[in-house]
Order: sequence, then structure tokens, then C-alpha cells
Amino acid sequence: MTDRRPFVGGNWKMNTDRAGAEALARGVAEIARDASAEVAVFPPFPYLLPVGEALAGAGVILGAQDVYHQPDGAFTGEVSVAMLGDCGVRAVLAGHSERRHVIGEDDRTINKKVLATLAGGLISVLCVGETLEQREAGRTDEVNDRQTRLGLAGVSELDLARVVIAYEPVWAIGTGRTATPEDAQDAHVKIRGVISQLYGDRAAGSVRIIYGGSMKPDNAEALMAQPDIDGGLIGGASLKAADFGAIVRAGASAARA
Ligand code: PEP
Repeated sequence: MTDRRPFVGGNWKMNTDRAGAEALARGVAEIARDASAEVAVFPPFPYLLPVGEALAGAGVILGAQDVYHQPDGAFTGEVSVAMLGDCGVRAVLAGHSERRHVIGEDDRTINKKVLATLAGGLISVLCVGETLEQREAGRTDEVNDRQTRLGLAGVSELDLARVVIAYEPVWAIGTGRTATPEDAQDAHVKIRGVISQLYGDRAAGSVRIIYGGSMKPDNAEALMAQPDIDGGLIGGASLKAADFGAIVRAGASAARA
């Protein structure tokens, strides 16, 4: 790791209920109080306000799992960047594998979300990553290259400072299978290379690229000790404050090493 501040985010997906979300948020607030990593949580939409209240003053970034790119209007069921900002949200996911592969979002849709999020002054966490089939066909780098370029299309160098890239191999998400630290590092280097081609070395050296895919307390430190892995996006293990806390601490200690 370099002087890039680690970013560790908990993606709660469609889990928790209101009381559980509040309790989990209180646990995360405790963890974050003395964390040197930047800590974020992405609860379900209905719990953003109570979670935000439970996190008050703890320095945790409140995040949203999705957004619609239009500012307002007749878009039943959708939520705008301004609405999220109004609820205290500071970061938004785009391109998560479940949105790509379960809901069917394409790179164009994802790019619109990235642009709208950044235009609204929030942090955009752009997720990229190959499926198992693509990996086995030797297409990992090509897929990450394409998703990174298309996801960032039209993003200025200035706005890139509010982008976090999450490399999340689809085959590792929620499966208990994790990329080896070396394979993940290799993918991160290649993604950083794409950023360098698009924005130059200085910008590429500053952008945080985090890993996601079955990161747990027992593998987090080895992954985040890799020089180009700047934190993690955590699904399952973020639902237990103790496990999430252990991962946040691993990120901080990897950064110091
Ligand atoms: C995720 O949802 O982004 C994720 C990485 O999930 P998990 O940690 O459960 O694999």
C-alpha cells in the first residue's frame, strides 16, 4: 500500500431489517472511531436515514447501493443523486456484479450513474470484474479494461479524485472463493494501467482500487498488503460488526506495513 488512504466499505445488499441495520451501524460507528482507514457502509435504501443517525459523528461514509441518473421526474421507483445527498449519502455504488448480472445493467447505464453521482458531488464506487467463464477464457484483463474505460467515460481528471474502483471478480462474490493476493494484485496493476492511459501516471497513482470477493478477517490483511490493493468492498462479512471491524483493522495495518 502507498499513501493512498485505505477505503473499506460494507455492502449490506438486501439484508438486515430496520432494528438490525441500526444496531449494525452502531457497531460500525465504534469500529470507525479510531480507524485510520476510510470506512463506508451501503445499507438498503429504506434504512439510510436511521443508519445515518446511528453513525452521526463517527466519520463513517454513508453510502447507497444504487441511484438513477436523472435528477427528477416520472421515473417510478427510482431515486436521484440529490435525494440521496439529502439523506446524508456521500458515496454510491455503480456496476456491482449483482446489478450487472442479476438486474442486467450494461456499461452505458453504469456510466450514466457514475457521471450523475460525480456531478452531484458524491463519491462514485465503480465496480468491475470478470465472470468465471471470462476468466477461464483468459479474458480477465480485457473485461476489466473495457468496464473501467466505459464506466469512466466522460469523467474529468478532477472528478476522478472522487472515484474509487472496486475490482470484484464475479466468481469470488458471495462464494467463499477469493482471488489469491497475487492474482488480485495483478488485476489491480492492470486496472491502474488503464487509468494511467486515460489520465496519466499521477492520477493513476492517486486513485484507490479496492478488492471485493469473499474478503474475510482471515484473508483481508494478505490481500490489502499488496501494493495496489487499497482496501476492500465487503459483502457477507460486513453484516457482523466484529468481522467488519477486523477487516478495517487489517486494512489499517496493511497500510502501515
Ligand atoms: C460484494 O457484495 O461486493 C462482495 C464482495 O460480497 P462478498 O464479500 O460477500 O463476496
